[in-house]
Amino acid sequence: MLLSALGKRTSVAVTLAGSATLALLAGCSSSGSADSPESSTASGRVEWSYSGATGPQNWASLSPEYATCGDGKVQSPIDIVNPKQTGNPNPVVAYTATQATVVNSGHDLDMVSPAGNKMTINGKTYEVEEAHLHTPAENLLNGKRFDAEIHAKQVDADHKYSVFTVFVTTGAANAAWQPFFDAAGVAVGASGEKISINWAQLFPAAPKATIQFPGSLTTPPCTEGVSWIVDPQPITMSQSQLDTLRAVYNNNDRPVQPLNGRPITQDAK
Ligand SMILES: [Zn+2]
Repeated sequence: MLLSALGKRTSVAVTLAGSATLALLAGCSSSGSADSPESSTASGRVEWSYSGATGPQNWASLSPEYATCGDGKVQSPIDIVNPKQTGNPNPVVAYTATQATVVNSGHDLDMVSPAGNKMTINGKTYEVEEAHLHTPAENLLNGKRFDAEIHAKQVDADHKYSVFTVFVTTGAANAAWQPFFDAAGVAVGASGEKISINWAQLFPAAPKATIQFPGSLTTPPCTEGVSWIVDPQPITMSQSQLDTLRAVYNNNDRPVQPLNGRPITQDAK
């Protein structure tokens, strides 16, 4: 219901879709959704959604650019089961920025990161571009679906992407994230005022038993070559906070995709 309503409102996003900000967000958070498979955004992306004719089952047929959504072999999300224990070092999270800008992409609320939020893992350093949430979670953990899933989309010097994932359960209010929820009213296609937020407190500072596997963006064009880095220990947000999010976007989760024998590993516990 909400999603069809969003489709009607996307003309605003289409108007602004050529902006540098939204171009940055293309991929895991590209703009646009619509009622007609033929329609496309000003950025040239064919519009897609989470239900009906433009929903996940049809993404691959909406545009040749989205073919990987159908014929890719390492697609995300997945059901994370039986990770192989490696004992390898966990990622070193060094998120330090204290501001952000919330952008309503038409599919989710993207908290765009300034420079400086870095993670080092497997000898590579990634820098956060933006963070967003899916309600409910997209990846499953041993068949369990959490109430929400945070994705921090990170890029390295070779333009390779990783997504640092943290699951969310309903519980105590999360004070660190409240400035994000306070900015949730930004209009579709619009970018809010700069907000003060402490990125170091948004994510676990020292994740343990981190799970890693190869995958893809979970939205069209479903680009592969994405390194997934999942903290299996969920954090909490309150019912009220999650309801604030759901009032803007709900059920923006792609169904789980086949594993196709890909390796899943787990760092030191
Ligand atoms: Zn995502």
